[in-house]
Amino acid sequence: MFRRLVSSYIVFTIIIVVLFTGGCKAISKETRETAKTIAKSDTNSPNIISEAIKHALEKSSKTNSGNQLRKFPYPFDGMLAISSDIDLSTVDKFESYHRFLNTKEQTPYGQGLGLDIADSAWMYVGSDYSEKIDQKDHSIVSEMSYFQGLDSNHLKDADKIVHYFKVGWIDSLHTFGDFSRDDKKILFTRNLAVAAWKTMNESGFKPKVWINHGSPTNAQNFGAYSPKEHFFNYQGGDNPKSPYYHTDLTIGNGIRYVWNSVGKSQFTYDNPLFPLRLRDGRLVWGFFRYTDDIIKHKIDWTWETNELPYQITKQRLDQLVKEGKYSIVAQHLGKGIIDFPFNSADIQTLQMLKTYQDEGKILVSRTVRLLDYDRSQKYVNYSIAQIEGKTYININSIDDPLFGKEIPTLDEIRGITFYVDNPESTYVLLNYNIIPENEIQRNGPDRDNKKSIGIRWFKPDYTDYTKINN
Ligand SMILES: [Zn+2]
Repeated sequence: MFRRLVSSYIVFTIIIVVLFTGGCKAISKETRETAKTIAKSDTNSPNIISEAIKHALEKSSKTNSGNQLRKFPYPFDGMLAISSDIDLSTVDKFESYHRFLNTKEQTPYGQGLGLDIADSAWMYVGSDYSEKIDQKDHSIVSEMSYFQGLDSNHLKDADKIVHYFKVGWIDSLHTFGDFSRDDKKILFTRNLAVAAWKTMNESGFKPKVWINHGSPTNAQNFGAYSPKEHFFNYQGGDNPKSPYYHTDLTIGNGIRYVWNSVGKSQFTYDNPLFPLRLRDGRLVWGFFRYTDDIIKHKIDWTWETNELPYQITKQRLDQLVKEGKYSIVAQHLGKGIIDFPFNSADIQTLQMLKTYQDEGKILVSRTVRLLDYDRSQKYVNYSIAQIEGKTYININSIDDPLFGKEIPTLDEIRGITFYVDNPESTYVLLNYNIIPENEIQRNGPDRDNKKSIGIRWFKPDYTDYTKINN
């Protein structure tokens, strides 16, 4: 693939050079201007297109018809995220397994995998869990959290959490904290949510993904309350009449995607997002996570680390590719007592997953990127204009039916790929600015024999962030 990209880039550059050296006398002024604009875009600066092209794009009809869009970034035919709940993890455990998952460093367990897998974090620990949580005999007070216990004036792992959020190893909030208690006391209050959001707004630790946690003493949970489903009646986070109400703050401060505690044995999804109406009337995106298998009509939870080989099987990955779907696999990567949670079967499973990515079949992505991509791919609004043998595609907006219409950032449209007859003579613009050439990927025929052009996915980042101070 790389060679094809390089050669198409060379051909493209030659065309530009020919145009500039007057090799074709018949070209119009407008085409020359376009060529100049595109040539300039090689220097990575945003560019203004000619008025004629802008006019043609404005005149052409805007659409978010899926026909022209490839479902996944080329060459992939499926996307998978491992979504990890931070239960019982310590900073040491977190760093040990993420160093193996995310970097390509030599670790005591072999070379790191270099996969884009992120985790969750919480602000408080209010659990009365009585067992040790690691081999160093640490108790629940050492659980990785932003504040010490329930004291928002006393920072604990705040610096680490902000650091790992900014570099992408944390992308989700596992609710405000661990409020699971055997004594059945509910320690969560709205004041804790107020203090948490104040600090999060100040520090920039602001995940877009919310994942509910734990037992019915976690009254901060929300999104699954139903008068018919008694099990979820404890959820108070979205009930304006409840002392545990917080979704006005939580949705207002940037949470866009919510896992509402409803487990699923379904592994693949055409689209993991679904609209979730909360009890305060707010709308937010819910998302599905694979959490369990049904064995003899009973739920068998598979979201523990050493069950990775049962969760991620060759058969399921092949199915994902064949169907062209998404999967979000729920896990608790830091829950085990040992610092490094993976046994050899787990490692083999993760290596197999990596092979699917290396072979261009499945893109492994942190949860927030997968969900952002799904939302953008589904609701991207674009216009297409043809001028003098060239095709221009302008991305106008993301028309999110829940959160409204917005001009996206480049990161929010990474991976968006359009089927076109001739990628070499197609240009992609964002809000009428040509997207720099080094952010564009032109692709030959895929398995459906269709050529395409897209915005490049995020560059892989194998940096060992455990060695970089925040
Ligand atoms: Zn949890």
